[in-house]
Amino acid sequence: MSDIPRLDHFVGGERLPPASGEYFESTNPATREVLYEAARGTGDDIGRAVASAATAFEDPRWRDLSQSRRGRLLRRLGDLIGEHAGELARMESQDNGKLLREMRGQLAALPEYYFYYAGLADKIHGSVVPTSDRQVLNYTSREPLGVVGAITPWNSPLTLTTSKLAPALCAGNTVVVKPSEHTSASVLRLAELALEAGFPPGVVNVVSGFGAEAGQALVDHPRLAKISFTGSTATGSRIAAAAAGRFIGSTLELGGKSPNIVFEDADVANAAMGVVAGIFAAAGQTCIAGSRVYAHRAVYDELLERVVARARTIVMGDPLEDGTELGPLAFEAQRDKVAGYVELGRDEGARVLTGGRVTDAGLGGYFYEPTVLVDTGQDMRVVREEIFGPVVAVMPFDSEEEIVRLANDSDYGLAAGVWTQNLSRAHRMAARLDAGTVWVNTYRAMSPMSPRQGFKSSGAGVEHGTETIKEYTRLKSVWINTSQEPVADPFVMRG
Ligand code: NDP
Repeated sequence: MSDIPRLDHFVGGERLPPASGEYFESTNPATREVLYEAARGTGDDIGRAVASAATAFEDPRWRDLSQSRRGRLLRRLGDLIGEHAGELARMESQDNGKLLREMRGQLAALPEYYFYYAGLADKIHGSVVPTSDRQVLNYTSREPLGVVGAITPWNSPLTLTTSKLAPALCAGNTVVVKPSEHTSASVLRLAELALEAGFPPGVVNVVSGFGAEAGQALVDHPRLAKISFTGSTATGSRIAAAAAGRFIGSTLELGGKSPNIVFEDADVANAAMGVVAGIFAAAGQTCIAGSRVYAHRAVYDELLERVVARARTIVMGDPLEDGTELGPLAFEAQRDKVAGYVELGRDEGARVLTGGRVTDAGLGGYFYEPTVLVDTGQDMRVVREEIFGPVVAVMPFDSEEEIVRLANDSDYGLAAGVWTQNLSRAHRMAARLDAGTVWVNTYRAMSPMSPRQGFKSSGAGVEHGTETIKEYTRLKSVWINTSQEPVADPFVMRG
């Protein structure tokens, strides 16, 4: 018997072994060491999870729980996550290779998401509508949808799951999560904590497995009332089409190719740090990576020099070590994808100023050097497509008009950064950039309170803030005739 731990699904408040009896390995990308085996979910497991969530949705222990009490459970879950933050951060860092420092930061912030939606739970309500017929009372109510499916990626497993789970629970839904095959452990642990917090069994379920099997089965399940997805634009597009075919809603947080724009009046030293943070933090494996950098020609050389100098001193290594600045890519195929893009860039005529090589950082893992590309053009694939790795293209521009055109010339519209000391320019750019999030003199800022939406191919629907509650509720309009008068004319519409 192997001593590698085996993780089963979490369904109906308990561990559920896979119907297929099969498990798959999850490895530490820094060392290639096998961490655990996760249950390989199939349609049977998804069927059980959705049935369990559907039963829980109708269960009076959940259905009749007051909204304030729902909030109290969310608060308790936030507290429990806080108590287990160290364990969860380590679990994620080992599973996806992101720095323990970064995951500790994410876990420290994670309870805030639950507290935010805890506070919102008893503020979801409809309104009375003043129709022109004074003898009719018309009011609206916001109702939960039912069973929500959440499909999440590997780059920030708990944070990205929470962006869906917390508002879905806040609104009174039940949830089935299919985490990425590369990072099942922390999301399974979260489901256990939800049970411990007092959520009735079946309200939070997790089925691990592969996208094409478990993920697809979840999307296709006829009892699903909604699908919420974070991941690649290609998969998101297929999921949206499947959801539309069944008239259920989908919230999609997809890829990006975000411009990070440095004007001639910027604090260039700060802007260079913003560029480094935008692309080398998390080894570039974030949807909001600032992977297209445009610097005004007057500061282009200085910015480039600073970014390249910092890139060259980035410490690659064990993500668990405090001094490490760049961990591995999350798995071998992702490392190969990044390497392939840099080769493609070279073929297209780009010059690699620093980086551009695969390494194992002496640990045996899937590392890739922080890479700066120049001589890149707007039509090159390395400038148009999401690489999802530590690779940045740095390009010059000459005027505000030109940079608005270049920045918006992308299929994506997730985020954008602007570095300027000119207040009017900051506002002009914020208004004209075709991106759901615009940061001025900062990058990668995020809060559960601040709504975010991907424009164009970067997504559909809103995550975070109060607005996301609409994604997890449906609106009912109730008409009550208060008149005792007989109906005068049945052929005339009232209203
Ligand atoms: P995917 O979009 O394929 O995966 C995201 C999630 O969807 C995972 O849980 C995955 O499962 C699941 N999934 C995959 N196929 C299906 C399907 N047919 N039906 C339902 N669920 C499915 O991204 P990858 O992990 O394959 O990464 C590929 C690229 O996507 C990256 O290189 C990056 O460019 C981009 N990406 C962008 C992210 C973002 O935040 N914008 C996040 C992750 C990736 P499984 O893990 O088992 O495949």
